[in-house]
Amino acid sequence: MNSKEIIKADTVLVNAVVYTVDKNKSTAESVAVKDGRIIAVGSNEETGKYISESTEVIDLEGKLLLPAFTDSHMHPARCAYPYFFQIQLRGVFTKDDYLARISEFVKENPDTLFYEGGGFQRSAFDEVGPRKEDLDAIVSDRPMALDSVDGHSIWVNSKALELAGITKDTPDPPGGVIKKDPQTGEPSGLLTESARGAVLDFLPPVSKEQYKESLLRLQKFFNSVGLTSCHDAIVTYDPEYYNAYEELAGEGRLTVRYRGSWLITPEMVGGGEGQSADFQPEMSIDEAVARGLEISKSFATPYWQVKSFKFFVDQVIEEETGFMKEPYAHRDDNWYGIKVWRQEFLNETFRKIDAEGYNLHIHQIGDAAASYGLDAVEYAVNKNGKRDSRHTFVHVQVIDDADVKRMAELGMNAVIAPYWSVIDDYYWDLYYPYLGPARAFNSQYPGASLMKAGVNTSFHCDFSVTEPDYGWALYSAVTRTQPKKVFKMEKGPDAAAAVRTTDHSVELKPGMVGPLGSPNECMTIEQAVEASTINGAKADFLETEIGSIEPGKLADMVVLDRDIFKIDIEDVAEMKVLRTFFEGKEVYSS
Ligand SMILES: [Zn+2]
Repeated sequence: MNSKEIIKADTVLVNAVVYTVDKNKSTAESVAVKDGRIIAVGSNEETGKYISESTEVIDLEGKLLLPAFTDSHMHPARCAYPYFFQIQLRGVFTKDDYLARISEFVKENPDTLFYEGGGFQRSAFDEVGPRKEDLDAIVSDRPMALDSVDGHSIWVNSKALELAGITKDTPDPPGGVIKKDPQTGEPSGLLTESARGAVLDFLPPVSKEQYKESLLRLQKFFNSVGLTSCHDAIVTYDPEYYNAYEELAGEGRLTVRYRGSWLITPEMVGGGEGQSADFQPEMSIDEAVARGLEISKSFATPYWQVKSFKFFVDQVIEEETGFMKEPYAHRDDNWYGIKVWRQEFLNETFRKIDAEGYNLHIHQIGDAAASYGLDAVEYAVNKNGKRDSRHTFVHVQVIDDADVKRMAELGMNAVIAPYWSVIDDYYWDLYYPYLGPARAFNSQYPGASLMKAGVNTSFHCDFSVTEPDYGWALYSAVTRTQPKKVFKMEKGPDAAAAVRTTDHSVELKPGMVGPLGSPNECMTIEQAVEASTINGAKADFLETEIGSIEPGKLADMVVLDRDIFKIDIEDVAEMKVLRTFFEGKEVYSS
């Protein structure tokens, strides 16, 4: 081929430290991009031949270039709307600060008919939880419902309880709890899990236009942290919801690529453990699956595709609903948490979905949930034959070694949140008492063990439970400790008196911030980068398109302000994104 025939690049990035995340972990100096794809990776000299007069040459002045980041489980559209347009309790951590924020919002928005919002931490309250009386003092004539930061409970005022018809005589629905005042027996203002439905049913619906507007705001934020590919873990059969993505994709306005999972619950289709025999589901499981498959076919672009179904096999430890093999340590009634599905029902359901070539995206918190969830995946794989199915456990908070091995054998993904594999206030207030010291310290988020066993392991922030921040994610994956900046923010004025250590040999006392056991579960920085890039791509069957910087792949890349492979880990937490490229186009510049 003579030089005239060489394709010319649209953009060539030169003088970079390119960490490619290819199989050989190779590095390079320059990347050439044409029509959104990488056409060459090598030295400045090697890519020089792709430069013509019309090529934009960008000098990265020795900065680190990585594949852009992925996130394998979050709630983008669902959470972006409240995040940007409703009462926002994130970033503050005490009841008084929550109430101040709520008052301020109500003052600024006096005409709202139903106040919504969220982001409160359960750990800011006692075991009964937040109280309706505090909200009644701010608004008593209109309903208010505020989500907990993990989305598993809501804090409501008396008007909301009245609207939902919840009184002291209302029994807990299956799979949920109406918290009651221990003295009076009146509903205290906290509804967990399925008990939320009675209030949430009255929320004014969010329109497609509102979802679209929030997604556009959200992608600016995501691009600014280097994120260009995400998984929406709860897609409902609400056309306003899924068509918000589809329309933005079709209009060519997305600068984040989305994959998603259709949500299926026992409230929709039956099959729930402990559900009464005369329970009337909204639709049969076959109808639910057929509906997802049918709608998925209508998604026309690579920017929005839904090829999996989401299931909860249990819930969360903070609400005592994570399903455990040993009872909760702080209770004396042999309480193991909640098993969501009947085994036979789940087996058959997984078999049907697996047979369609679709993926299972499974919320798993407790070790008992992992075991029966794996039984169902195994059943499906045995019946249908093994294929490259990549069924996924998300969160993977507590799991037996034997089940980690089973995950590897079944070719499953693990999606974990490095942000949470730390010892912080949340740990001391909830996991320490609920799981007991040994289990809380030694058994949570076995990131390195999953990788070692051969399970494709990627990261998620569960937005808006946690906001994506890859300096934080990498830091906490490597140290299993909260970074200094988060420690300072969470402790606020108390930071000076509080103790934070990164030393695994220090015995931690309640209130201290430090590393979660065991040190063997710490990842290397290289592993953490893989979990944030190529492994996330694999989790969504995107590894031939993104996740590494190699010729032929889409040019999703991020420029960092420091070389995270060469510096002290404390400085990794502070890293900043300088530029983000989505399919070769710069979508963020600091
Ligand atoms: Zn989630």
